[in-house]
Amino acid sequence: MTNLLVMKFGGTSVGSAGRIRAAAALVESARTKRPVVVVVSAMSRITDLLLDTMKHAEAGDRAGIDSNVRQLRARHHEAALGDIELIARIDALIAEFERLVNGMAMLGDRPARSVDEAVAIGERLSSVLFAACLNAAGSPAAALNAAELIVTDAVFGNASPLMEHTSERSRRVIEPLLRRGIIPVVTGFNGSTLDGRPTTLGRGGSDFSASILAAALGAAELWIWTDVDGIMTADPRLVPDAKVLAEVSFREAAELAYNGAKVLHPRTLAPLLAPGIDHAIPVWSKNSFAPEKPGTRIVGRLSTSEGARAVTSMSNVALVSLESANAALSGVQVMARALDALARTNVEVLAISGSSYRQSFCFLVRSGELGRTIEALEAALALEIAHGYVQPIDVDENVGLLAVVGEGMRGTQGLAGRVFTAISREKVNIIAIAQGSSELTIAIVVHREGLEKAVRAVHAECHL
Ligand code: ADP
Ligand code: ASP
Ligand code: MG
Repeated sequence: MTNLLVMKFGGTSVGSAGRIRAAAALVESARTKRPVVVVVSAMSRITDLLLDTMKHAEAGDRAGIDSNVRQLRARHHEAALGDIELIARIDALIAEFERLVNGMAMLGDRPARSVDEAVAIGERLSSVLFAACLNAAGSPAAALNAAELIVTDAVFGNASPLMEHTSERSRRVIEPLLRRGIIPVVTGFNGSTLDGRPTTLGRGGSDFSASILAAALGAAELWIWTDVDGIMTADPRLVPDAKVLAEVSFREAAELAYNGAKVLHPRTLAPLLAPGIDHAIPVWSKNSFAPEKPGTRIVGRLSTSEGARAVTSMSNVALVSLESANAALSGVQVMARALDALARTNVEVLAISGSSYRQSFCFLVRSGELGRTIEALEAALALEIAHGYVQPIDVDENVGLLAVVGEGMRGTQGLAGRVFTAISREKVNIIAIAQGSSELTIAIVVHREGLEKAVRAVHAECHL
C-alpha cells in the first residue's frame, strides 16, 4: 500500500468522548489524502485500573474488584454517549474482563498470560469506541484486536514481535480493509504467540505496536499523537522551560526513550531500523491537543547537531554493586558471571560502571526487576559468596538516573565536566557515571532526592 500513514493515539488523546472525537477528526482529515491505519492505547489510567483489579482478585477482595469494575464501566459508558449498540459491545468486553478476573479470584493467583489477556481489554474497549466514532461521522472503520495481527514470542508482559509472521498476518487482514476504504483501528499494547496465547509488549507499549505495524505494512510514515508538543529538551513536568526539538535523530530518540523520556516507548524505533527495512520510516511526535503545532520529526540523520540536546531521568531504579573479595577471582570474572545470569533471566541493565583497582563494578536496573536481579545473582554466585570470594551483594534503592543525550556531544570539549560541576553545585551526590562508546549519552547515577534538582541544573547549564 503506497504512502500509508500509521497514526497512534495515546491514553490522554482518547481519554474521553471529546478527545476521541478530536482524534477521529485528525484521522478523517489525513485520510482524505492517503490510506491511514489507526493504533489506540487504552483510555488514560485504564491500564492501571485493570492491573489494580487483578491485584484485588488475587487477594480475594470482592469489594475492590466490584468498585473497580464500576469505574471501568462508568468511564466507557460515558464515552459511548448513549449509543445503545456501542454500550452493548462495551458491556460484552467488560464481561470478558470480569470472567478472567473471577478466575484469578478463584485461583488466588494472577497467571502472567491471563494478566496479558485481561489487561489488553483496555485497548479493545478504546478501539471499539474509536471505530464507532469514525463510523458515526460517516467514515467507515473497523476495530481490530492486535492479537490477530501481531505475532510475538511468549515473554508475557514484555513480548517481542516475530516480524515475518506479523507482516504476513497484518497485510492479510489490513490491506483488504484499506482497499475497501475502511479505516482499521487496531489495539495498541497487545499481540499473541503463534499458537494464539495473548501477550502484551510492556507498559507504554502502544508506541511499539504502532511501529511494529508501520514496519510490517511498509508504511511511509508514523505519527505518534500524545499530550505534549513533541520530544522536548526535558520532561516538561520536571523542567517548566523545556523546549520542543524540531528534529531528533533515531539514535537520539532511542537513547532518550531508553533513559526515561516517557514520550516514546524505548523499543519503538527498533522495528523501523531493522535489517530488511530499506529506508528508515520517518516518525513524528505530535500533540493531539494542539495539532497545528509542528511537533518533532525523528529522522535518520540530522543536518547539524551541537552539544547536548536533551536531559532525561528515571527514578524507579536501583544500583547493584558487586566486588571481588579474593585475588583468585578478578572483577571481570565476577562481572562476566553476573551479566550472564542477568541475560538469562531477561533483566535489562540500564547502565554499568566499573573500577579495575577495586575489582568492583556496579550496574543499574529497574526497581521492578530488582527482585529477579538479586535472585539471579545469588543463584549464580552462591558458592563464591559463601566462601568469601565475592563480597555480599550491595543494593542502593535510593538512587536515580540522569542522562544527557546528543549526537553533537562527541565534538564538544569539556561538556562532561560542566555537567558534573552543575550537579555538584546543587550539592547532589554523584554515585556513578557511565558513558556509552557511542558518546551519544552520559548517564549519571545520583541520590534520589537530588534527581529533579540535578535535571534542572543540567538543563540550564547546557542551555537547553
Ligand atoms: P501517551 O499516553 O500519549 O503515550 P505518555 O504519558 O506515555 O503519553 O508520554 C507523554 C509524556 O511524556 C508527557 O506528558 C511528558 O510528561 C513525558 N515526557 C518525559 N520526557 C519527555 C520529553 N523529553 N519530551 C516530551 N515529553 C516527555
Ligand atoms: N495502555 C498501556 C499502558 O498504559 C499501553 C500504552 O498506553 O502505551 O501501559
Ligand atoms: Mg506512552
